[in-house]
Order: sequence, then C-alpha cells, then structure tokens
Amino acid sequence: MTRLGVLGWPVAHSRSPAMHNAALAALGMTSWRYQALPVPVHLFEETTRALNGSGFLGANVTIPHKHAALALADEVSPAARAIGAANTLTFASDGTISAENTDAPGLIEALAVSPQGMRALVLGAGGSARAVVWALLAAGANEVSVWNRTLARAEALARELGARPATRAEPADLLVNCTSVGLEGRSGPPGVERSATEDCALNQLGLTFDQVGEYSNVIDLVYHAQPTALLAAASAQGARTVDGLQVLVAQGALSFELWTGREAPREVMERAAREQDPPPD
Ligand code: NAP
Repeated sequence: MTRLGVLGWPVAHSRSPAMHNAALAALGMTSWRYQALPVPVHLFEETTRALNGSGFLGANVTIPHKHAALALADEVSPAARAIGAANTLTFASDGTISAENTDAPGLIEALAVSPQGMRALVLGAGGSARAVVWALLAAGANEVSVWNRTLARAEALARELGARPATRAEPADLLVNCTSVGLEGRSGPPGVERSATEDCALNQLGLTFDQVGEYSNVIDLVYHAQPTALLAAASAQGARTVDGLQVLVAQGALSFELWTGREAPREVMERAAREQDPPPD
C-alpha cells in the first residue's frame, strides 16, 4: 500500500481525501490510499518524520502547519522558500523530505487566463495572500496591490514580495479575496432589491457589491457549496469568476502529479470535492 495524506489540525473538514481517492480510483491505482492526518502542533515534526517509515510517499499540509513543513524539510523548492510556506511534502526512500508549494501554481492554473501585464488587487495579508501575491508577480502581473484590514501586515507583505500596500478599492483587472470572510449582509448581490444604506461590504474592508463590478476577473479563495456572495455579485456584473474549490482542485492536482507522475483527472477531483457536504457552521 502506498499512502498519501493531509496533515492539519483540525483536518476532518478537508475535501482532499475525497478528491485524491477519487483520482486514485479513476486511474485504477488500487494500492494507493489518501487519508486525513489530524496532528496537533506539538506533534507535527515527530509525526511527519515518522510518515516515511509508515508507507507514506507524500502529504499535503494545511493550517496550521505550512511554515513548520518548510522548516523541517531537507529540500525546499524556490517557490516554497520565497512564499515561506509548503503545502506538499514528498518522502524519499532514503528519508529525505522535500517541500513544495502548489498553492501558487494552482492559483495560476485555476485563473485560466494569464495574469501577464495585469493589475491585481489582493484582499488580505495572511498565509494565502502571500502565495497569491508571489504567484501573480512570478506569472508576470504588472502590479499587485495588497489591501488588508490591518494595514501594517499589508505593508510588510508588500515590502517583502515586491507588491504595493493599498488602503482602498483600487482599480485593477483582477480581484482576489484572500480574507477568511466573505461579502455579507442583508441586501445581497446586484439584481436583488436593496437601498444604498443597506449596501453591504466585504467584511471590515468596506468593498461594496457595486465596486465589485469594476473588476473583470474575480477569484474568491473561500469555498462553499454555493457561490460566495462576492462571486455572485461579480458574475452578475459580468466578471469572469473562479471559486475556491477550483483553486483547491488545481493545487491538489499538481501535488498528485508530483507524487504519482500521472496526469491528475481534474474533472473527477472537482466532482468529488464539490459532492462533499460543506462543513457544519
Ligand atoms: P489567514 O492567514 O488567517 O489570513 C486571514 C486574512 O483575513 C487576514 O488578512 C485577516 O486580516 C483577514 N480577515 C479576517 N477577518 C476579517 C474581517 N472580518 N474583515 C476583513 N479582513 C479579515 O488565513 P489564510 O490561510 O490566508 O486563508 C484565508 C482564506 O482562504 C480562508 O477562508 C481559507 O479557507 C481560504 N483558503 C482557500 C484555499 C483554496 O485552495 N481555495 C487555500 C488557502 C486558503 P488581518 O490581518 O487584519 O487579521
């Protein structure tokens, strides 16, 4: 049995086991299994180092272990090093652990149009925003601005990665929501009756439904079974949209290909990820 898994805490809600097991089944890889690996922070290093001896070839890494995964790896890819986080570990038979970041190329794959020459506005300055800013600049975006509730974090991220801090909804070709909350409120997206005073904002940044229409491409990393209010507002106003599940599938497919050397069946993976019930609130 060749084993794969996803290290996280908590990780029971993860769609990765369903997505990867569906891919393994579709390719007839019956001696492979992918499982959730719930590991608390204080046991991460010890557990991860023991995986190789337990038949594991690789593991995805999610919150809160992405920095720790980078720190324990013997070999680190340039992307993972620059982003400061790894979401994919590979265990060689000699015990060597390699770290990669497929979140960044996954975002570019899911975007489906080249960001070359684009201006991008990234909302948020946490872990996912780091990967997104790095990915967009590496793929040739002309300018990337970072708008975050806590300005100092946007400034620090922008300085480190070569982006620009923003303090308002600046014009751009591409908007990426990397905050952990969505566009919310009673009034709903355009087309739904509302008054100006009821107009709702993207969390505590203050981006309104009407402003979303200024972006021709909108990505929301947050994923739900239904489109998020941000994506609903964006597509109602004619934007090309990409949801968080498409980004999740793309990063998972790239990890799968790294471990197996086989082309990942992306449609199968997306169907399995979408079929999984959303986590309870
Ligand atoms: P994180 O490191 O905790 O960062 C959270 C960000 O959200 C911070 O910039 C924070 O601002 C901002 N924020 C939180 N509450 C806010 C509010 N009420 N108003 C405005 N801003 C707020 O999280 P992360 O790892 O970057 O993940 C962010 C989201 O992306 C999560 O929902 C995660 O599930 C999703 N995600 C999806 C994928 C995918 O494959 N689709 C991959 C990674 C992450 P402050 O700095 O001011 O606190």
